[in-house]
Amino acid sequence: MKNNKPITICVTGGKGGTGKTLCAVNIAVMLKNEGNKVLLIDGDVENPNTYLLLSGELENKTEVPFFKPKFLEEKCSKCGLCAENCAPHALLHIKDSYPIPMLNLCSGCQLCYKICPEDAIIPDSKTIGWTYSTEINGLSLFLGELKPSEARSAAVVEALLSELDNIIENDPKKYDIIVLDTAPGAHCDVELLLDKADLIIPVTEPTRFGKLDLIRIIELIELLKKDYKVIVNRSSLLGYRDQFLKELKESNIKILGDIPLDNDIVISYCQGKPLMDKNNDFNKNGGGFVAFTNIFINLKKWIDMKETMQG
Ligand code: SF4
Ligand code: SF4
Repeated sequence: MKNNKPITICVTGGKGGTGKTLCAVNIAVMLKNEGNKVLLIDGDVENPNTYLLLSGELENKTEVPFFKPKFLEEKCSKCGLCAENCAPHALLHIKDSYPIPMLNLCSGCQLCYKICPEDAIIPDSKTIGWTYSTEINGLSLFLGELKPSEARSAAVVEALLSELDNIIENDPKKYDIIVLDTAPGAHCDVELLLDKADLIIPVTEPTRFGKLDLIRIIELIELLKKDYKVIVNRSSLLGYRDQFLKELKESNIKILGDIPLDNDIVISYCQGKPLMDKNNDFNKNGGGFVAFTNIFINLKKWIDMKETMQG
């Protein structure tokens, strides 16, 4: 890789269970096989499992704090101003009573703390999740995890991206390439990660549901004005491959490649041994291995083109 700033590839999927983490891990591994310094970021914070596919352990656990207002009743005049201005209605105020916080609705905006005329609200914080950083077989992994029962997953994704921004600012050459793995869907956690990408790889499967969700995520990608190329996973499912690929091409959807159903993929998944890691010994003529090899050839063409454009 020639650039000072790492190229960022984001693997995503409109629906869950399409194999996006499988693709993200194997793409990261293939880039590592070629001697690149690769950082894989698991941004699926409600279900982070990349480390399991890599047979790694989570290390360097760091808390993700989140603002919460703390009320000092002895100072409160019961005026209700805080509740009136709390947009997500996280404060309940009944006349002549102290406000009642419902912190699971709190967005952490701090407005109540800033506008209270009596200084009866002071900043406090709670832990809403954790980030981890670890090295697994030459691959760097950042991973975010939302605490069970907490709802603010975007704040955990933001904490991961903030760590990434710090690294790029302080040591832009630390990594050649970043691979982001998002949650399924097209919500704000996903958008935060897509927005960082130079190339987005939506992973889908050859079903009507898969196509509908793919179209939704492509609409979001196009709104963000990002480049994308699709992977069709389990493409041999029900013999629908050729028709599905034809439909995508007719809709002008750009395709990076397709992956058939394959025993070695299942074995690699169950054993936590990435199919494409050069340290593993899978059949190089197997359908999954050949498919990932072809996907990587196409991906490298895109990377070469991107580097040429960046000079
Ligand atoms: S704005 Fe301050 S003083 Fe008024 S009800 Fe809220 S906490 Fe009490
Ligand atoms: S921090 Fe914002 S969202 Fe939370 S209680 Fe205060 S005003 Fe409401």
